[in-house]
Amino acid sequence: MSVVNAAATDAGTRSRLRIKDVRLEYQTRTGKNVVAIDRISIDVPDNEFAVIVGPSGCGKSSLLYLVAGLADPTEGDILLGNTVVQGPGADRGMVFQSYTLFPWLTVRENVEFGLKRRNVPAKEREDIVNRYLNETGLAAFHDAYPKQLSGGMMQRVAIARALANDPKILLMDEPFGALDSQTRNTMQKLLLRVWEQHQKTVLFVTHDIDEAILLGDRIYVMTARPGRLKEEIVVPIPRPRSMDMVMDPEFIAVKRRILELLKNEIKDDEH
Ligand code: ADP
Repeated sequence: MSVVNAAATDAGTRSRLRIKDVRLEYQTRTGKNVVAIDRISIDVPDNEFAVIVGPSGCGKSSLLYLVAGLADPTEGDILLGNTVVQGPGADRGMVFQSYTLFPWLTVRENVEFGLKRRNVPAKEREDIVNRYLNETGLAAFHDAYPKQLSGGMMQRVAIARALANDPKILLMDEPFGALDSQTRNTMQKLLLRVWEQHQKTVLFVTHDIDEAILLGDRIYVMTARPGRLKEEIVVPIPRPRSMDMVMDPEFIAVKRRILELLKNEIKDDEH
């Protein structure tokens, strides 16, 4: 385990996400070692929207899994403030591409799930759930079951469920990847609205470069496997942003840079 930086005890860095010299090896069934992530260090300022892009198979999902505490790095540490991540916790909420709602629970019960597990009193639970149902446009659907909902509506529930637990960090793995472009755009706007309102740190994986630029304060471009950090881009485009900006010179300049960085990486894109 690494030595903890004394600066991390400052109040302002209490929940700061730091990925320090992380390496991840998987062992395949035939006993071969695959290096998925090779010495990545990333320091995400509090409340920033950080996006990870990179060729498929470069370790983006694995990195989110490590931050979520669902796997342990082979080397290095994931730190939240001055605490080393050693497993999953309510301080990190996850939203995946595949719909991960509990099919036997209603929308309301899905959003309430984590609060119930943490024994939050019923009245408080109801207030919190109502608030997030309203914010995500789900109030009219609170009694529906997931199978009655469209993909976009299911992702609204997943976002509301993650936010209801008031995590410090939202981990999002291509959450809009399966949606049609119009729904995707609606969801991007919704996410930006709730992020601005609730001041969370977001770590968001996408392979859609427009989406990365629309959403991100900072974009981490990874190399092909083994995934390393190729470049960290601070997006210079002011907020509020919208997809109407895709033809703006600043937007195009960032996009060009990312495409150039990725161009030499796709040769290993065998997945
Ligand atoms: P990405 O999200 O960028 O597409 P992943 O994190 O899913 O990449 O995977 C990174 C690399 O690790 C890939 O080459 C993948 O095949 C490999 N990998 C992922 N999970 C496992 C596993 N459980 N066992 C062996 N190799 C794995």
